[in-house]
Amino acid sequence: MKKSDPAPERAILVGAEWESRNGVVAPDLDELSALAESAGAMTVARVTQRRERPDPSTFVGQGKVQEIAALVREEEADLVIFDDELTPAQQRNLQEQVGQRVLDRTALILDIFAQRARTKEAKLQVEMAQLHYLMPHLMGQGTQLSRLGGGIGTRGPGETRLETDRRRIRHRLAILSRELQEVRRGRELQRRPRQQWARPVLALVGYTNAGKSTLFRRLTGAEVDVENKLFCTLDPTIRLLTLPNHQEVFLSDTVGFIRKLPHHLVESFRATLEEAVQADLLIHVLDASHPQAETQRAAVLQVLRELKADGKPMVTVANKVDRVENEFTIARLLAGYAPHAAISALSGKNLEQLLTVVMEALAAQVERSAFFLPFPANRALALLHEKGRILKEEYRPDGVYVEAEIDRVWAGKIRKLIDE
Ligand code: GDP
Ligand code: MG
Repeated sequence: MKKSDPAPERAILVGAEWESRNGVVAPDLDELSALAESAGAMTVARVTQRRERPDPSTFVGQGKVQEIAALVREEEADLVIFDDELTPAQQRNLQEQVGQRVLDRTALILDIFAQRARTKEAKLQVEMAQLHYLMPHLMGQGTQLSRLGGGIGTRGPGETRLETDRRRIRHRLAILSRELQEVRRGRELQRRPRQQWARPVLALVGYTNAGKSTLFRRLTGAEVDVENKLFCTLDPTIRLLTLPNHQEVFLSDTVGFIRKLPHHLVESFRATLEEAVQADLLIHVLDASHPQAETQRAAVLQVLRELKADGKPMVTVANKVDRVENEFTIARLLAGYAPHAAISALSGKNLEQLLTVVMEALAAQVERSAFFLPFPANRALALLHEKGRILKEEYRPDGVYVEAEIDRVWAGKIRKLIDE
């Protein structure tokens, strides 16, 4: 944390252990603590409870609530953060009984997004997601939220503070939604030329903190924020990258994915994740040194499924191998996931090898395809000749019939061109 940052807020973390069909689900308070740190809070105490189901009015049991309240006084805590989602009623009751701000995981994640949003679109998305989240939490509680003062959970993107009056929220949501539409139209216009250059797009995906931005910067020489803070990159960044065979591709750095990201959040950040959806090849970066690397991978693959991007070709990368002593850990992480590479984005180890693997993955997508290009077919035909190996070319009354061996990515792009 920088010297100029205000003193961190003091947070107490609360997690519940659930008995589910698959056994006991332990809360990951280490991750919650890292998230809290990203938001500017330091963890002063952790509380866990094992329960069969949440208490409808206070989530944890009465005894635990008293314990938390005592800890809040003892540790002079500013806020209490729950690892799960709280209902508006639970949050309200807890807040009354522990006498300090109570946040759930969603509110914490939203707060981090709010601080990290940089582009206009990201800011609009975050504010909308925050207001949608806030609405039900305001039910019948009048000015309670406004009495809470500033701090984590009350901040909006940029300079603004979160609006806490329901009528004004509705009004504000309508305005934001219009603005967002306009910004999106603008972005569509910007995207077009890139598609026309028709170079393959590679997207770095992966759990937050896996090392995507470090790798992005290493490969492209671009200055993106690399910080040991979760969610550092909220807006995707795109750079041109030349592979060893001189093929040019676009590489995009994306926002980190995270476990238990509420569904409506995935929806609202769809546009932010769109680079991954639009990509021709995904590079999935794993933090091989993280004890939960497998769980993190599963979380990322789940989000990709929700975005319907799970069918895309993917290169799996075990990163941070400089921090892994046992080779077997890396081998196990990569087993069954081909093509793959084991690298250190920080030291630069095996980056050449990664580029070779990426090159091969792109080349492996060569397929034999047939195209029919209605007249005038100049551009598509020129591209087919440039990028593929022509096997057959027949001029017919209304267009050209071509059979060619061509990279799947290019085949797709040419088909798009034909359809336009
Ligand atoms: P992102 O959230 O996936 O973009 O992750 P970042 O690139 O911001 O990296 C998160 C943290 O991991 C930073 O502190 C990086 O310096 C560190 N990091 C990234 N790659 C490596 C690596 O190969 N080895 C080690 N030891 N640390 C790394
Ligand atoms: Mg990043």
